[in-house]
Amino acid sequence: MNKPLLEVRGLSKRFAIGSRFSSEGRRIVHAVDNVSLTVEHGETLGLVGESGCGKSTLGRSIVRLYDLTGGQLLFDGQDIGTRSLKALRPLRPRMQMVFQDPSASLNPRRRVGDLVAEPLRLHSRMSRAEIRTRVAELFKLVGLLPDQIERYPHEFSGGQRQRVGIARAIALNPDLVVLDEPVSALDVSVQAQIVNLLADLQEKLGLTYIFIAHDLSVVRQVSSRIAVMYLGSIVEEGPAEALMAAPAHPYSQALISAVPVVTTDAGGARRQRILLAGDVPSPLAPPSGCRFHPRCPVAQDRCRTDRPELRPHGPGRRVACHFPVTEPG
Ligand code: SF4
Repeated sequence: MNKPLLEVRGLSKRFAIGSRFSSEGRRIVHAVDNVSLTVEHGETLGLVGESGCGKSTLGRSIVRLYDLTGGQLLFDGQDIGTRSLKALRPLRPRMQMVFQDPSASLNPRRRVGDLVAEPLRLHSRMSRAEIRTRVAELFKLVGLLPDQIERYPHEFSGGQRQRVGIARAIALNPDLVVLDEPVSALDVSVQAQIVNLLADLQEKLGLTYIFIAHDLSVVRQVSSRIAVMYLGSIVEEGPAEALMAAPAHPYSQALISAVPVVTTDAGGARRQRILLAGDVPSPLAPPSGCRFHPRCPVAQDRCRTDRPELRPHGPGRRVACHFPVTEPG
């Protein structure tokens, strides 16, 4: 069997906040806590959860924009979790990231052609002429016109700027692209265009994606598998269709109940919306036992003291819950 492209084992990321010069008032944010997952070559893993659940921190830790607090990170079989930035450099082209806000990630004073050429200048041995040719090719691949190469970011719409961000990310033929809320800042019609573009590129270039979003209706369109995060941990994971059809974790069930059902029948079946009580607790002081227990509609005494582990729950599925709401199947 082929090894997975990415294996994450027990990854944790904590941040200290408060004064750097005194331990008093210093507090620890438990952003990502003991996350394990694998990503196979060519698949899309959707990572979903409310904002602040740690999914972006996990994405950034995976491409080593952050140092890990704990755990292991294997990329194509190579342990990269503790590598220095210098030792990571040869692998950088193979792992790229697309950010939510294309305006913030593009330097407004530089022409977009220059911005797309930058990774090629830094990480390849291409000549100037070869870089020019490659930039033109990338513009075509992402649906931009050759005469837009000389323009500045402010001359583009939000969707076009995201196309520029995608062109930059794929410039070096990466294996893995972590897409951090790539369509959240865009209008719905433009979202669909970018989602289609990402699907086309995946097919043409054999890319592997981790698609991070808070919107489950977007994640389900693009993902072969979905992992649901809550307060820094994965609470459920499985094939997208099976998980959407019969979520086993009460939190996934609540998220899915909020996804609109498309029906042409006026009297068609309606999904009953599950409204969760309260807000997501602070990652500065996560609750004891199951972290979801203060909001869980089916919590029992055991949930307050005993933290559930992520366990197998049917083919290709795992759930972290003492009392899953569906049988394994
Ligand atoms: Fe709810 Fe208990 Fe399951 Fe946590 S372990 S999700 S509190 S039923």
